[in-house]
Amino acid sequence: NLSNRLERIAYFVGQGRRVADIGSDHALLPVYLLQSGKSPSAIAGELNGGPYEAARRQVAGARLEEAIQVRQGNGLEVVQPGEADTITIAGMGGGLIRDILEAGRLQGKLEGVQELVLQPNVGEELVRRWLFNNGWYLQEEEILEEDGKTYEILHAVREPDADVRNKQLYDPSFWENAYAKVLRSELLYVMGPWLLRKPDANGIWARKWNREIEKLEKISRQMERSELAESQEKLKQLQRDRDELKEVL
Ligand code: SAM
Repeated sequence: NLSNRLERIAYFVGQGRRVADIGSDHALLPVYLLQSGKSPSAIAGELNGGPYEAARRQVAGARLEEAIQVRQGNGLEVVQPGEADTITIAGMGGGLIRDILEAGRLQGKLEGVQELVLQPNVGEELVRRWLFNNGWYLQEEEILEEDGKTYEILHAVREPDADVRNKQLYDPSFWENAYAKVLRSELLYVMGPWLLRKPDANGIWARKWNREIEKLEKISRQMERSELAESQEKLKQLQRDRDELKEVL
């Protein structure tokens, strides 16, 4: 019984791909990928003993020990170059996801990898920036809500012209809609270039950013009472951010 969040992550994995799921915890995602016939094999990587044991039990319970290798280790350390077509990293902060990808890149672990399916719980901006800086084209983004929380899924692929396409993706002047005039490119990394262009029909994305505006307004009301010069600078920046958010929503 897979959560909607994990099901949507699985959706972005290409048919027939050998997957390495890093920070797999209970290995629910690789088990699902095998059972649904999407992946022929998978690696479930886990740093910590408890979740590693849980993953082993899950895989044994599903009688998938042949197809899913559960390995204990830090990030992409558990993957050898060429072993995986797809890497999934879900349910962690964006900073940690970025650090895992960067360490793996330096160790050559991303060679041969075709796609990344990433689901940061927070700090999506850090992941988008890493993808942009490392030649991974952000092909799709999705936002969903589960148990009162908002999750974003980023699907990135290797492409010969990834850099060119990424540049256009984050350049508002390539846009046809009204946002182009108001948008700072910076904000695109925070809000998501696809989510901004085509907000979800359920309004999840708009609600997320309306909540953010409310938060900024609350903070700026508190800061208005402060007389520190530093606070005044921060306040102005906050208010600019708020105004810009308001304009694109
Ligand atoms: N990916 C699953 C999901 O989305 O439902 C589990 C998410 S769980 C909140 C995060 C898991 O990542 C934990 O089991 C934790 O032990 C593991 N983890 C944290 N840092 C890690 C690292 N550097 N390498 C591998 N696993 C890590």
